[in-house]
Amino acid sequence: MIDAKLAAKSHLHEQTIVKLSEQVCFGGTQLVIIGGPCAVESKEQMETVAQKLSTAPVQALRGGVYKPRTSPYAFQGMGEEGLKILAEVRSRYNMPVVTEVMSISQIEAIAAHADMLQVGSRNMQNFDLLKALGQANKPILLKRGLAATIEEFVMAAEYILTHGNPDVVLCERGIRSFDNYTRNVLDLGAVAALKQITHLPVIVDPSHAVGKRELVAPVAKAAIACGADGLIIECHPEPEKSVSDARQALSLEDMVNLVNSLKPVAAAVERNISAELGVGLEPTPLCFAAA
Ligand code: PEP
Ligand code: MN
Repeated sequence: MIDAKLAAKSHLHEQTIVKLSEQVCFGGTQLVIIGGPCAVESKEQMETVAQKLSTAPVQALRGGVYKPRTSPYAFQGMGEEGLKILAEVRSRYNMPVVTEVMSISQIEAIAAHADMLQVGSRNMQNFDLLKALGQANKPILLKRGLAATIEEFVMAAEYILTHGNPDVVLCERGIRSFDNYTRNVLDLGAVAALKQITHLPVIVDPSHAVGKRELVAPVAKAAIACGADGLIIECHPEPEKSVSDARQALSLEDMVNLVNSLKPVAAAVERNISAELGVGLEPTPLCFAAA
């Protein structure tokens, strides 16, 4: 029995809908697909990504500007300069953006430029950060810790909820196990369980789960089939040249093909993937609750 007073289905019987923009919501019949590079590297890179993905059924962009890296010598992200790039493509292409927040001191600037703040796996139990995000007025994408149980994951969400922010989306991104052929082990059972235990939207990150680009598409399909409300997938104009997570990055073309190939899988579970959102296109209202 998980003692999550606010996150539990018994607290709120209906599915929580988390609004990313007027047109994009998590938890309804429409799936939300988030695409983009692991890290923002340059203005040109994000322009190319946004241009391509805005003509595809991809509803939001990702790109880290503060990167949690294993090595202190690895690229740590573009910081504020990267935030400005995100803000530019966001308004030029009319696509909401999601980016990672690593510390309390970054919250204000990120919230001023992005539509959703991501808490990475390594910070899932950074309780002071979670409490501070409870006071933020932006939705939070909470990723499961590398070795967190389902209960710990739900209780981390509870911290944000109980500190005042109801807009939390959970993200299963694989957990550590003994086999390193795949980077992590995607726990689809957790996706099904979280959908049953909580009223929060649940999405899946197949990229960090498998760590190899050729495994991303089949796993993404399985995630949708088992009830995920969306996906966050890494892609890059020149995948092999990605400064971080190159091995798992899809090309932009493969990303678009993958998203299109998800449509029949979504239909099989009574969900759908919306049309493009780009500038000049008719806005489609996406924020319907699932039947
Ligand atoms: C990321 O999304 O680039 C990332 C660092 O993910 P995770 O926190 O799941 O490892
Ligand atoms: Mn990454």
